[in-house]
Amino acid sequence: MRVMAFSPHPDDVELFCAGALAKYKARGHDVAITLVTNGNVGSETLPPDEIARIRVQEARNSAAIINAEFHFLGYDDEFLYDSPDVRRAFIDVIRAFRPDLILCPDKDNDYIPDHTRTGQLVWDVHKMVTVPNIPTEHAPAEHTYELWYYDTGAGIGFTPEVYVDITDYWDKKAAMIEAHESQAAWLKDQYDVPATYYGETLSRFRGFQSGCAYAEAFRKARMFPQAVSPDALIPTFITP
Ligand SMILES: [Zn+2]
Repeated sequence: MRVMAFSPHPDDVELFCAGALAKYKARGHDVAITLVTNGNVGSETLPPDEIARIRVQEARNSAAIINAEFHFLGYDDEFLYDSPDVRRAFIDVIRAFRPDLILCPDKDNDYIPDHTRTGQLVWDVHKMVTVPNIPTEHAPAEHTYELWYYDTGAGIGFTPEVYVDITDYWDKKAAMIEAHESQAAWLKDQYDVPATYYGETLSRFRGFQSGCAYAEAFRKARMFPQAVSPDALIPTFITP
């Protein structure tokens, strides 16, 4: 199976679904991460171009920890909007990797604009990726993808349907979060929390809810046509 995760900003995939990605990878599935924006507002001391260069490299380093294929769309942080060109970019990156399953932010329940727009765009193009009359660099996909939304920051407004036990993959997830070295200072300055606290608290909370040490939470997006992957998200625990 081929699994692609969309990260609106450098570090979102790490915080919300890196454990599941590591678990998929360990089970022999192909994994890709698509970074949507360049993170160029994420510093109180460095100019946009410089922090963007650092953060994209950090995202590449993080993806390399689980040997995930890395794609980068290059939009400015906090300025992602729907447009014909943006839609084509989403369609094309999906056609390039041809995923069976996509993990992305929850378009209905996330509260960060770049997150909801990323989720909306991945939802919007689910049929378009197969349509020949929408040409992009890569050929149309043979089939659409199963789509799952991952958690929100601090779990606010998100009602999980499925929990993935990531206890055995917590070390990998932590290493991926820590690969974003520049954000340790940013999160401390902005929110007075260390990056590992932000990721670990949510994973421990979802684990607490589902009866294991560390978990990630997901909600399925439903549409027609409904792609169903044979190895759909590893449902080790279902919502009580
Ligand atoms: Zn984000």
